[in-house]
Amino acid sequence: MLWILASLCFFWCAFREIRNSIWAAPGYALPIPVTPSYLALVLGLALAFAWPPVHTWYFQRLLSAKATELADERRASVHCNTLFDTMMDPEMLAAGHANPLTGKIVLQKPWCGILMDYLSHPQRANDKELWSLGMFTHESMHVRGEMNETKTECQAVQRNYRAAKLLGVPDATARRNALDYYNNGYQERGRIGGMQSAYYSAECAPGKTMDEHLPDSTWDTR
Ligand SMILES: [Zn+2]
Repeated sequence: MLWILASLCFFWCAFREIRNSIWAAPGYALPIPVTPSYLALVLGLALAFAWPPVHTWYFQRLLSAKATELADERRASVHCNTLFDTMMDPEMLAAGHANPLTGKIVLQKPWCGILMDYLSHPQRANDKELWSLGMFTHESMHVRGEMNETKTECQAVQRNYRAAKLLGVPDATARRNALDYYNNGYQERGRIGGMQSAYYSAECAPGKTMDEHLPDSTWDTR
């Protein structure tokens, strides 16, 4: 919101500069010619301040469309919380959450940024970036209708390869990223135990009872 206000303020300065070059400003007999360097500066600042909210808006639209595909066409809408949104969110301690009734997915600060970082260099994704992919798929599975966390996470594990490809990651990298998450991040949940164990099951493995045998499963190594 602050970015948009700052941008509008600088657009107003540019508008005023142009207006005063056409019509005389109050107290002036004649219009004042535009000062090109000033006009370029305020327009540049207006665009610079407009970029972050426009970029986030575009990213949310992309995530919403892809989450809807992952949720088998149940309509999802993704919102990237700002720091202020996160502080006001009753579920601020959860990195993300989803409501299967409304299709609304919320990713807390800074997870949208981490997911953006992942998508900018998937071939050298770190554990945190792979976690952001897993979280995006996990919340999409809630919108798909699953609320049991163990099942939700296992469904996500099997679809992380699909999710990465939907988000534009090249095929071989998407497969490797999804398998890395399964072999490291997911297994780590089982080892940590406690609250994390709610997201883990030893049955979530190729050929075990939670294997959905998806044609494009993360586990499929053909
Ligand atoms: Zn969940």
